[in-house]
Amino acid sequence: MKTSQGTTLIANAQLIDGTGRPPVPNAALVIHDGHISYAGPAADAPPLPPHTEKIDARGGSILPGLVEAHFHATYFNIAALEDLDIKYPVEYVSLLSSVNTRLALECGYTAARSGGCLFNVDVWLKKAIEEDLIAGPRLVASGREICSAGGLMDWNPDFRRIGMEGLVFIINGVEDARKAVRALVKDGVEWVKTYPTGDAASPDINDHHTLCMTFEEMHAVVATAHNHKLKVTGHCRATQGIKNALRAGYDAIEHGTFIDNEGLDLLLQRNVPCVPALYFEKASIVYGPEFGLSQRVIDGHQETLDAGAESARRILRAGGRLGMGGDYGFGWNPHGDYAKELTFFVKDVGLTPLEVITCATKTGAEIMGRDAELGTLEKGKLADVLIVDGDVIADIALLEDRTKFIAVMQGGIVKTGQIAKPFPTVVKREK
Ligand SMILES: [Zn+2]
Repeated sequence: MKTSQGTTLIANAQLIDGTGRPPVPNAALVIHDGHISYAGPAADAPPLPPHTEKIDARGGSILPGLVEAHFHATYFNIAALEDLDIKYPVEYVSLLSSVNTRLALECGYTAARSGGCLFNVDVWLKKAIEEDLIAGPRLVASGREICSAGGLMDWNPDFRRIGMEGLVFIINGVEDARKAVRALVKDGVEWVKTYPTGDAASPDINDHHTLCMTFEEMHAVVATAHNHKLKVTGHCRATQGIKNALRAGYDAIEHGTFIDNEGLDLLLQRNVPCVPALYFEKASIVYGPEFGLSQRVIDGHQETLDAGAESARRILRAGGRLGMGGDYGFGWNPHGDYAKELTFFVKDVGLTPLEVITCATKTGAEIMGRDAELGTLEKGKLADVLIVDGDVIADIALLEDRTKFIAVMQGGIVKTGQIAKPFPTVVKREK
C-alpha cells in the first residue's frame, strides 16, 4: 500500500493515541512520508518544513484508525445460514466482499483481521487492497473455517448433495484436521478459524453449551498451524470448549462466553486475547424477530449476551486483552454497523470510552500481529489515522456516524472522509 510523501500536520484537536493514555488536549500529529514523526501537545511540536500540508481537525478528535478484529468480508448481510455459502457463486460473493471492504474503510476501520470467509477470498482481497486497486482495511486473512462433522457448521443436510466446501472444512479426526490446515497453509492464510463449540443459533443439536471439536482435533490444528507459523482461533462459547482451546495452544479466543475461573487463569497465563463480539447478540435479540429467529434462539442469544458481557468485564478487569469485532454481515447486524460494538461496550458492558478505543486500536493491531507498525499514534508507526469532528470520549457513538469523519487515512493518505478526493482507479500492467 502506498504511503504519503512529504509532511502533513494535523492540529486543533485532542489526541487519543490508542495506548490507553489520557487524551492530550490541543494536540498535533505530524506525518512524514506516511509515518508518524510527532504525536503530542501542539506547543511542543518540532519546526515544520515550508511545504507542510495542514489539516484542521476543528476541535475534534485524532485517533488511530480502528481495527475490526472479527471481520467477515464475504458475509453480505445474510438472513439464513444457507446464504453464507450456497446461495450465490463465489464470483458474485467476491464482488460483494469488495463493497464490504470499502464500506469498512469508510467507517474508519483502517485494518481488520478476518474471522473466516468463503473459499480464499480474503487472501486475494488483501492483495488487491495492498496494491491500492480496491479500497479497504489492511487485512489479515483466514479463509475457510474448520468444524467437525455434525458440529455447528455442518448444518447442510446430506440429502441435498450440495457441498459446503466453500466455507468450512468438515473434519473427522486428527488426520482430517491436519489436512485442512495444510490446505490453508497453501492458500496463504495467516489465521486458522475453527469451531470448538456450538452457538445459540442451533438450539437443537449444537447449542452454546455443546462441543463441536475434540481436544485431539484442536491440538492437531494448532500443532500443524504453528509449525507453519500460522495462528489459531476459534468460536468458543461453552466453558469446556474455551479451556480445551487454551490448553490446545490457541492464539486467540472468539467470544469466550461462558469462561470460568480456571479458563480465565489459562487465558491470563499466556495473555491470549479474546474478541467477545457482543453487539451481534444484542442485534439478534432486537432485530431477530423481523428475520424469523425463533423465541428459543432469541432466548439463547440473551443468555449468551448476559454471560458474554460478564466474561468480557472479568477478562479486562483481570488484566486480559479484548479485541473489538462484531461478526458483522448478517441481516440484523449488517456491514457498516461496526462501531455499534464500541458504543455497546461503553453503554451496556460498562467499559470507559478510552478503554474501548484502546481495545479497538492497540489490541486489534496486536491480534493482527502488526502492533509494531499499527494501532497506536506513536513516532515511527504508519499514519493510519481517523479524524473525527467531535469529542469521541464524551460521545463514543460519534464513531458510528461516518458523516462526522473529517478524514480516514492509511499511511498518511486521506482515503475517505469529508476532505478526501475521489479514490483513483489504478491501472496496473503486469511486468
Ligand atoms: Zn464470526
